[in-house]
Amino acid sequence: MTPPRANRYRSAWAGDVRAGDVGGPDVRVCGWVHRRRDHGGLVFIDLRDRSGLLQLVFHPEEAPEVHAAAHGLRAEDVISVGGPLVRRDEQNVNPDMPTGEVELGVRVLDKLADADTPPFQVDEEGAVDEATRLRYRYLDLRRDRMRSNIELRHAAVQATRDYLNGSGFLEIETPMLTRSTPEGARDFVVPSRLQRGSWYALPQSPQLFKQLLMVAGLERYYQIVRCFRDEDLRADRQPEFTQLDLEMSFVEEDDVMGVVDGWLQQVLAIAGITIDLPLERVAYDEAMLRYGTDRPDRRPGMEIHDIGEAFAKSEFKVFADALAGGGVVRGLRATGDLSRSRLDELTEQAKALGAKGLVWATLEAGGEWRSPVAKFLTPEERAAAAEILGAREGDTVLAVADTADVAARVLGSLRLELAGPQEGHDIFWVVDFPMFEWNETEGRLDPLHHPFTSPKGDLDADPAQWRSRAHDVVLNGWELGGGSIRINRRDVQQRVFEALGIPADEAQARFGFLLDAFRYGAPPHGGIAFGMDRTVALMAGLDNIRDVIPFPKTSSGADLLTGAPAPLDAQQLRELGVSVARA
Ligand code: ASP
Repeated sequence: MTPPRANRYRSAWAGDVRAGDVGGPDVRVCGWVHRRRDHGGLVFIDLRDRSGLLQLVFHPEEAPEVHAAAHGLRAEDVISVGGPLVRRDEQNVNPDMPTGEVELGVRVLDKLADADTPPFQVDEEGAVDEATRLRYRYLDLRRDRMRSNIELRHAAVQATRDYLNGSGFLEIETPMLTRSTPEGARDFVVPSRLQRGSWYALPQSPQLFKQLLMVAGLERYYQIVRCFRDEDLRADRQPEFTQLDLEMSFVEEDDVMGVVDGWLQQVLAIAGITIDLPLERVAYDEAMLRYGTDRPDRRPGMEIHDIGEAFAKSEFKVFADALAGGGVVRGLRATGDLSRSRLDELTEQAKALGAKGLVWATLEAGGEWRSPVAKFLTPEERAAAAEILGAREGDTVLAVADTADVAARVLGSLRLELAGPQEGHDIFWVVDFPMFEWNETEGRLDPLHHPFTSPKGDLDADPAQWRSRAHDVVLNGWELGGGSIRINRRDVQQRVFEALGIPADEAQARFGFLLDAFRYGAPPHGGIAFGMDRTVALMAGLDNIRDVIPFPKTSSGADLLTGAPAPLDAQQLRELGVSVARA
């Protein structure tokens, strides 16, 4: 670290002193008592500051008073000490510690603050339940692993700024108190005191503002920005999270993807992850067919194949009915021994995911199938299916006959379950998305991305068939980022609202400011946003984003440290003109 200005607390960082400093002037360091050992009349303390650890030694003869005081020091007390830096005896050198060749012979000791016994040990990485870690986050953050996660996050943010600043982007802030921006979640809202009965929404993303910045002629914008989405939380979600958000004018897909490719290469390199550019691009349809999802983890292989062709004339009712009804028969090849009970388990999972059932067959010598359905299939059908799947003796074939959606969902999920944890990294683009997806519950189309995404192709066709100019980045089965080329024309934007069933007056009321802006010369533009928390978690090799967020919330949206969310007092509610309905 950059050497500090010498003051009454420190002349050097504890973790930065080295054997080369021995023989120089006395050193002063400060920080927390990491660990204390009393040993043959000497007291040893590992002192910790942000830079690392330094061993202090308190000698009974050389500094009797200070030695006596050292006996009273306890873990996490805050101290400042001074004295000569000395070489450790040969047998005490610790090669695992950057400062392991030296120790500080303490002559002066100032105790700056007392510490109660912490609820868990800061000097060990031992398992502590997460609720306790969150309740005492300031202690958890003192621990080595969390500090290095925060440092990694800083490095990633810094590299991001450097890269984008160097590519002509401006860092611009957009409002937090604003109107709803639809990204598919509920809004967090804030009541207005000055305009009673009116509410701000916290941004689900800066989407509309960044588009307005493009209309404003600022051409290249980015922001590392907090976004808020009120969703039922899952392990990898937080109600507030950080995005790297960017937008560019006069661009096509290749421009946005090129900038992002370069950024990813630079930022992932910090974690030692090297990627080859340009990143591969996989079409949405292909991802859905081969992996059953639009954010596949391709590392395990085990691709899904359409085996309908093998059964085109099959008399096996399950396959024949599915194909006759416009559905599909798809399968995958699993290796290794799948016991009968495991196959029953997989069948139950398939049903829970909406399949009518799961067809399975274990291939035996001579092309025979050990399977409850073997007798319904001709040898030619079995051979053709095995051929498409590349299945050999000893393999198990799993197949689903259903609608394409169900087959994709079920096989995509069983595939991951059978594959288990994977090593290495697989990162690529998914492109050529459909514009909309059918929302069964609401009986309407929903945007697959958001309604400001540009459609492509023939807009006179049925909107359900439209494709979009969207592009997502997937890493190891996580959607790391998503974006698109946008609509920059009022008429097209209105057609998309129509397709979504948003009436013109409602569109005007909610997004009139954007539609109005499009009247005044909106350039073609496009961009993308990345989940920074996820990016850093993946860089750190973690599957839990809470460990890269200094003050995260629990899965029920609670901040265990501050106790948020909390009720307001009656006076505040009155001022806001808000009354609370008791459920
Ligand atoms: N606003 C989008 C999101 O938050 C990203 C984008 O389209 O740029 O997912």
